[in-house]
Amino acid sequence: MADGYNKPIPIPQPESDHYWEGAKAGELRLRKCDDCNKAYFYPRNICPDCGNNNTSWIVASGKAKVHTFAIVHRPPHPGFMDDLPYVPAIVELEEGPRMATQLVNVTPEPEAISIDMPVKVVFESITDEISLPKFEPA
Ligand SMILES: [Zn+2]
Repeated sequence: MADGYNKPIPIPQPESDHYWEGAKAGELRLRKCDDCNKAYFYPRNICPDCGNNNTSWIVASGKAKVHTFAIVHRPPHPGFMDDLPYVPAIVELEEGPRMATQLVNVTPEPEAISIDMPVKVVFESITDEISLPKFEPA
């Protein structure tokens, strides 16, 4: 665990244990429907597109593009105070799903970030069990 980590920490649920194990191992794992062939996020047993529970786990490429982003100067939680300004974003994964994340290793200025900018996943270890997927310019 990173010393002094004082931000909210995800609580794994049975449906997401495999996802968090993958993140800890440096893999971005997604669920994929074996009937309609669509990948989806967040991980759950039932396909959100067709409703079937015939699904599998896949390892995503980690490649994505920025769908949208913001630059935060006033944090919603005191744990983020030292990170200001930071860049929460929604990225669209190469496999199709969009996920909420944070852009890192990027200048937190509008001129440095653009919609559809290619990014790739990196993992930040925050506890012995949890690593958070974040994205940096590809
Ligand atoms: Zn489906």
